[in-house]
Amino acid sequence: MPIIAMTNQKGGVGKTTSTLNLGAAFARLGRRTLIIDDDPQSSLTQGLLTPDATFVMPPERTIYALFAGLDAGPSELVVEGVFPGLDLLPGSPRAGSFNRPEPHTVDPDHAALFAEGLDRITAGYDVVLIDTAPSLQFNTWVALLAADAVLVPAQAEAYGNQGIAIVFDWLHLVGHVRGRALPIAGLLVNQHKSRRGLQQAVVDALREHFPETLSTAIPDTTDIPEAINLGKPVQAHKPRGTAAKAYDAVAREIGARLAALGLMAGDGKDR
Ligand code: ADP
Ligand code: MG
Repeated sequence: MPIIAMTNQKGGVGKTTSTLNLGAAFARLGRRTLIIDDDPQSSLTQGLLTPDATFVMPPERTIYALFAGLDAGPSELVVEGVFPGLDLLPGSPRAGSFNRPEPHTVDPDHAALFAEGLDRITAGYDVVLIDTAPSLQFNTWVALLAADAVLVPAQAEAYGNQGIAIVFDWLHLVGHVRGRALPIAGLLVNQHKSRRGLQQAVVDALREHFPETLSTAIPDTTDIPEAINLGKPVQAHKPRGTAAKAYDAVAREIGARLAALGLMAGDGKDR
């Protein structure tokens, strides 16, 4: 059961959107999938449940429980069936209270406590996606320490490469502290506008710089914000639309990469 952290130090690049829609794509492929809201801004939870969900919900019923080391399991924490085959571990603004200025000074015992709690929640899933905050804060740090691989959603734009280089620096630091490298499952180009001209030139340059770039890009389409507005993955809103199809292709591509890394069997079953 691979745990994949969705990470980029930039906001607005599609981490949250891709956690939801890639999660739904894995679920459509028949894989039991859990998505985890690890951003204290909790947009994933608010988008899927209700805008005030994270204020109404007691923090003890959210990811906060894992950071606080509470003895909570799936029955207390997981919201089942946000889409067929897809479950959610909600986020909480309170989860931000553990932040510290130098994340790599986080007590290893605290990180281990989170990882143990995460194990209790994720057992039984075929794939787990963690939506992270756009900074290397405590919540992101412990998630990266616990993850099996990273997926980097990114937009193809001028200066995009520098931003991604920062993420790769984080991953080196995490790998150093873990004592083993954190594999990159892929770099996912989001809000792709055109296969021609400058857009494509930027994507080509990105791919040249970062061979981890996936061959499928997610198109820029109003289907995605429309679906979020309805509190659904894009597959529930436009099941046969270009975005849903692209996320299906990404799920297959990531599945193959995870299989190549020995993290997932080709049939999607646990290893
Ligand atoms: P992040 O989590 O990285 O901050 P989000 O997933 O919240 O980014 O996306 C930022 C905004 O961009 C959201 O309003 C979302 O609806 C919009 N968006 C994301 N992906 C697409 C896309 N492929 N096409 C159109 N809009 C998108
Ligand atoms: Mg987000």
